[in-house]
Amino acid sequence: MISNRELFLKNTAQTSNSPRLIEIERAEGSYLYGPEGQKYLDLVSGFNVSNIGHRHPKVIEAIKSQLDKYMHVTVYGEFVQAPQVKFATKLLEQLPSFFQSVYLTNSGAEAVEGAMKIAKKYTGRRQIIAAKKAYHGSTQGALSLIGNPAYQEAYAPLLPEIEFITFNDSNDLSQITTATAAVIVEAIQGEAGVRVPDMAYIKALRQRCTETGTLLVFDEIQTGFGRTGSMFAFQHFDIIPDILMLAKGIGGGMPLGAFVSSKEIMDVIKDNPMLGHITTFGGHPVSCAAALASLEVILEEKLIEGVADKAKLFKKELTHPKIKEIRGLGLMMCLQLENFDQVYNISKHCAEHGVMIDWYLHCETALRVAPPLTISNDEIIEACKTIKEAIDKFC
Ligand code: PLP
Repeated sequence: MISNRELFLKNTAQTSNSPRLIEIERAEGSYLYGPEGQKYLDLVSGFNVSNIGHRHPKVIEAIKSQLDKYMHVTVYGEFVQAPQVKFATKLLEQLPSFFQSVYLTNSGAEAVEGAMKIAKKYTGRRQIIAAKKAYHGSTQGALSLIGNPAYQEAYAPLLPEIEFITFNDSNDLSQITTATAAVIVEAIQGEAGVRVPDMAYIKALRQRCTETGTLLVFDEIQTGFGRTGSMFAFQHFDIIPDILMLAKGIGGGMPLGAFVSSKEIMDVIKDNPMLGHITTFGGHPVSCAAALASLEVILEEKLIEGVADKAKLFKKELTHPKIKEIRGLGLMMCLQLENFDQVYNISKHCAEHGVMIDWYLHCETALRVAPPLTISNDEIIEACKTIKEAIDKFC
């Protein structure tokens, strides 16, 4: 019989010439399980998605209950769908009062597209500034913001009037002018290898945007929902962005995204022309039911309170002379090594020994560590032991 692995290679589009080909049969809590009894402690969380662990019972229950009522009924924004309304309301309760309106999408990239559109329409300006080595998604608009030409050249022309600044470099802030509609930045640059900006930089960025009437758009698609030790990473920096973009950890494992802003800013999309920004499946009721349950789990189980201590334990357990640096905030971490061969071999060895780790798109010399926030101390110690064994072997 032809295996799933062979069918994967034959019938599904490939995103690289060397997929990891790890087959997953089921997942639960901090673990992924393969068809031949393999068990992997998940330090990737499906790329910052499974913040509350895999298949949390409350999320499963919410999904089942919504399935018994309805799935898709109509395009986003027309009918009143309780799961969307309840989730948006709960989400806004977690945010400063500036945020008053949530637009629900299918994915992170779609949230980025929407945010770019409202920023242009609200300000009447065209220019958008993004950061070098950013990652905001792979659709053509989001790709226009990825500050890495290697990923852009084959797909040109992308959006015009996009300029790039160096992340965390205040010298570049003078590029933001009264012609700039928006500055779009990740709260912490993820794919660049977890680059945490200085508080002073983010404050200066906020100030420059305010002075020039530019909207500050924060991509919290990787950092949101407790990942960094606060519900959202902007809360670490004592500023309020004008638009917040969310996805990944939002849906408790279900596909969902959102962009959130003030009513005044968000209202620009509702007319001239009407229906100028619509989506069929955005805010799918089953995803929203899951998202509400997931948010309640984060709050009720006080998952955010545990993040800093768990990050500290990782850092303590990962003391190793070959790890040049551990960067990160909360459970969004990165172990800096020397080269990609080390990263590749260590990831492979770890997977073979039951620990799933990965690397970063723009920083292939660093290991990605971003476990579910529910990971236990024993699991952290077990994972770090395996990582250190692999480092001993390959560095
Ligand atoms: N923004 C950031 C910071 C991301 O890491 C990603 C995905 O990795 C995206 C946007 C795009 O999200 P999606 O893959 O859901 O389109």
